Amino acid sequence: MTTPVRLGVDRIACDGRGLCAEMLPELVVLDDWGYPILRQGPVPDALRDLAEDAVGICPKLALRLEPCPVCDAPSSG
Ligand code: SF4
Repeated sequence: MTTPVRLGVDRIACDGRGLCAEMLPELVVLDDWGYPILRQGPVPDALRDLAEDAVGICPKLALRLEPCPVCDAPSSG
């Protein structure tokens, strides 16, 4: 079993050109100014490789995968 991860972005470093949204539209959409809005929660296993690729092609090194220790916590709802 893989450790749950989620996407994160350094909003200072990001230049908002949207390469990540083109590559990973399932998890990233752009706001009106072209800056990424990331889907909350864990990256699905099926998209993990693509998410890693998106992190790798970010020209500003602004996109990252980070541990998500609460992602697999049971829902309290
Ligand atoms: S690819 Fe990187 S720099 Fe470009 S919008 Fe996404 S996070 Fe920002």
